[in-house]
Amino acid sequence: FSAVRRGLPHAIFDAALSDAMARRAQLIGALRHARERDELRLFFQPKVCFATKKVVGAEALARWFNAEMGFVSPGEFIPLAEESGLVEGIGEWALETACQQAAEWCRADPSFIMAVNLSSHDLDRPGFVDEVAACLDRHGLPPANLELEVTETAVMGDRAAASVVLRSLGDLGISVAIDDFGTGYSSLSYLSTLPAHVLKVDQGFVRRMTTSENDRSIVRVIVGLAQTLSMKTVAEGVETPGDAAFLLGLGCTLAQGYLYGKPCPPDEFQREFLGRSLQEV
Ligand code: C2E
Ligand code: MG
Ligand code: MG
Ligand code: MG
Repeated sequence: FSAVRRGLPHAIFDAALSDAMARRAQLIGALRHARERDELRLFFQPKVCFATKKVVGAEALARWFNAEMGFVSPGEFIPLAEESGLVEGIGEWALETACQQAAEWCRADPSFIMAVNLSSHDLDRPGFVDEVAACLDRHGLPPANLELEVTETAVMGDRAAASVVLRSLGDLGISVAIDDFGTGYSSLSYLSTLPAHVLKVDQGFVRRMTTSENDRSIVRVIVGLAQTLSMKTVAEGVETPGDAAFLLGLGCTLAQGYLYGKPCPPDEFQREFLGRSLQEV
């Protein structure tokens, strides 16, 4: 970054920086009103059993459409929401909306599992576990039909506190998944004590698997580790039949990726994926 800075005339650097800061400020300002203006939606991406090709559930992914800014990706607005204290409201909305949807879809497919992403702030919030329990109650959703995804990096913050929250969620009967696994720096001893049920192999490794022997080895180790710890594995970013064949061979449990389906609106998910087996893949 400083090398870039040194290589550029200051005026250009300052202009780029102030553009970025202006966009940030504009996004945060607009994000503050996103809920009341009904600009947020959840899209759903299928998770598929490698062995049977059955759609076993979905991951709920936030989408934001703003009149002035157009579509803003969660990769951009979730970090801004975290910095500006807005993520709590978005998190509550996502959990509420996903549980309501899950309760409806569970009537058609009782084993359907809805996965919702948490932010590190959720883990820090007193009363979070009670809020989750209350949300399940409100919608009559059995805890076994909910999975909460938390990134490896988020649980690395305050490890002891994170463990307590994850254990309480597990005690409710909710399954806990460690997202983007392999990109943080958790030690094996820490992982072995984490009360989690699922490891999600980060899509970076899956993407590089075809071209890099190293990444293939890392994926093999992660799947083996999960098996040793009696955890399930989800491979993210599965895009080709070659990826799928390799991961199936390793004994990876579930697949998520464009090969099976992109995140889509609820009506499309219900029509194309709910309770189906994707034999054609
Ligand atoms: P994530 O939880 O790791 O979600 C997986 C991301 O990978 C999603 O990006 C999904 O669209 C994308 N993806 C899935 N399959 C493929 C594939 O085959 N190829 C490629 N190239 N990408 C694939 P998305 O929807 O842009 O979300 C980005 C991140 O934003 C998520 O990463 C998650 O960390 C965060 N996020 C999204 N919704 C929420 C939310 O409601 N709450 C919180 N706290 N975070 C959220
Ligand atoms: Mg996720
Ligand atoms: Mg991920
Ligand atoms: Mg991610």
